[in-house]
Amino acid sequence: MAKYLAALDQGTTSSRAVLFTEDGQVVSSYNREFPQHYPKPGWVEHDPKDILDSQIVSLREAVRLADINPADIAAIGITNQRETTFLWDRKTGECCGNAIVWQCRRTAGIVDDLVRAGHGDMIRRKTGLVPDAYFSGTKLKWMLDYYNLREKAEKGDLCFGTADSFLCWNLLEDRPHVTDATNAGRTMLFNLREQDWDEDLLELLDIPRACLPRVVDTAGMIGMLDPAILGCRIPVTAMAGDQHASLFGQACLKTGDVKNTYGTGCFMLMNTGEIPVESQNGLLTTMAWRIGGKPTYALEGSVFMGGATIQWLRDELKIISTAAESEALALSVNGTGGVYLVPAFTGLGAPWWDMYSRGTLIGMTRGTGRPHIVRAALEAIAYQSADLMEAMVKDAGHRPGRLQVDGGASANAFLMQFQADICGIPVVRPKVLETTALGAALLAGLGAGVFATPGETTRAWKQDLEFTPRMDEATRLLEMNGWHRAVERSLGFAKA
Ligand code: ADP
Repeated sequence: MAKYLAALDQGTTSSRAVLFTEDGQVVSSYNREFPQHYPKPGWVEHDPKDILDSQIVSLREAVRLADINPADIAAIGITNQRETTFLWDRKTGECCGNAIVWQCRRTAGIVDDLVRAGHGDMIRRKTGLVPDAYFSGTKLKWMLDYYNLREKAEKGDLCFGTADSFLCWNLLEDRPHVTDATNAGRTMLFNLREQDWDEDLLELLDIPRACLPRVVDTAGMIGMLDPAILGCRIPVTAMAGDQHASLFGQACLKTGDVKNTYGTGCFMLMNTGEIPVESQNGLLTTMAWRIGGKPTYALEGSVFMGGATIQWLRDELKIISTAAESEALALSVNGTGGVYLVPAFTGLGAPWWDMYSRGTLIGMTRGTGRPHIVRAALEAIAYQSADLMEAMVKDAGHRPGRLQVDGGASANAFLMQFQADICGIPVVRPKVLETTALGAALLAGLGAGVFATPGETTRAWKQDLEFTPRMDEATRLLEMNGWHRAVERSLGFAKA
């Protein structure tokens, strides 16, 4: 009997492979970083060869570290950085230039033109996304234009894909050209309700359908791992964008369940069930996953400066030497003394959406010191997340019973307690913080029939700590109000 589930986690700065037991315990993991390319200001690229090589090395190393027979891996799930765009020749596999990374702003002008021409509402309605260069659609358009490849694409001689597609095509027998619904939902080409590529959007961006991958379920048989990789064939039975995998790995399977990942930025997703909720508060509508042909939807919001705010304290202000040190410093005072830090270094996202907002430190007095500023920075991560939560509550019409957390900065107990206090709901942290990889592995288990139903996978989720709200309601409202007054002062500052 095969005993292990494997996750390939193809991230923005590194590729990772994690082996789990079927009950969700980590057996081994291996991480390989790869170079980032910045050919021009605002441009970000990855070399597809680096992505492939780092992913293969990680898988082989994870298996070596676990000291297992690869034939004992029951199934593999792929999870990935979303939106990053690859284009390659269907016959030779040769890539048309580097992959354009989600962060890359080179297509901002294309998006501005679409919005100016009045297509914004249609894009929002069909895809659930706010028109932005972040998503794959305009990146693919740019590649087809720049390399003059439209005719070749029309003939079906080219493949477009995000990292999930690219890995499948290169690592699986028979080279399937597929993507899953969560990844498709981030292209700005996919109709969320119809669960198919949208003709109007393809026409708008002049993208031939023949270069698009077949959209498959998030969990289900995709193909077999090429035996050249590990010496045996292994079923690949799941694919999901990283935030969607993490929602699944957090066992957020019920309508209203919410998770927040505290990494460089923060990503909050709420499961909204069978209904794609249209946000009135600047959130994105996205897939949670598609299983057995049945779509489950989610609302998504992100904080640009999450853990990165703490990196800023460390690397630019140099008032802490490690991120972990921020916790003790914050706890060395019993409040910020009225100080608020709005880390709008690159503008503010949902629910504010102000690209001209800038970092603001306000409320200082002669008594303000280093611990107050460090504390204000940690609190800012929680306030921004609380704003996302409020937007979700307004859109979805109900308040979740708890917030499930993960990511590097969720290790900070002060931050987690303050998050519980300021949201007024318990914050729950699981034992396995690698919820993205866990989610991919569990989805793979589901796709391979190791689990009969999604519900069975939740056994793998185990609680570490629960942070119970301790702040009284009056204080909570007062603190939130102070934060919002600070945010107002940061808005529009770079416009002058
Ligand atoms: P990513 O996946 O985006 O690279 P991680 O999940 O690895 O991010 O988390 C790293 C981020 O978490 C960094 O921005 C770092 O500043 C922050 N971080 C890590 N540990 C702590 C801590 N104890 N307190 C506050 N922030 C932390």
